[in-house]
Amino acid sequence: MKKPYECSICGRQNVKLWRPYMDTEPLICATCAEERQSPKEYVVCVWKEQGDYHVGTHTERKLPLPKWEVNVEGKVPSYFGPGPDGFPMGMTDQLIVNLKDVSQAYSSGETTMVPAVPDEDGEYTSVPENRCKWWEELPTK
Ligand SMILES: [Zn+2]
Repeated sequence: MKKPYECSICGRQNVKLWRPYMDTEPLICATCAEERQSPKEYVVCVWKEQGDYHVGTHTERKLPLPKWEVNVEGKVPSYFGPGPDGFPMGMTDQLIVNLKDVSQAYSSGETTMVPAVPDEDGEYTSVPENRCKWWEELPTK
């Protein structure tokens, strides 16, 4: 039987969902992920301009990353902290969350969630290009 494409926590349907890397459940939506995001730190970089680009040198300092919100594309700032211009260094569709209250299998406090893109049969094996587009076009919230 085809599993319903719905958030395992709040039951929301017709929105983008994420699944644990290497697993097919629980599925969670952006809103539930935001509420469960794991606190992360980044290593502070000192940036130096070298011609057209910037070179970053890691310092000993670590700072907490600001809380993220999933954007309309289903992305959050990558977990590397701000770049030379103060903006995040790239975006990622991987969400790092704490699923302690949701799943006994994921109690570490940090679970990496990836876009849940099932194929036509509801399986998570190979993901054809058109299914990725389907995911991208789902509303985020
Ligand atoms: Zn949810």
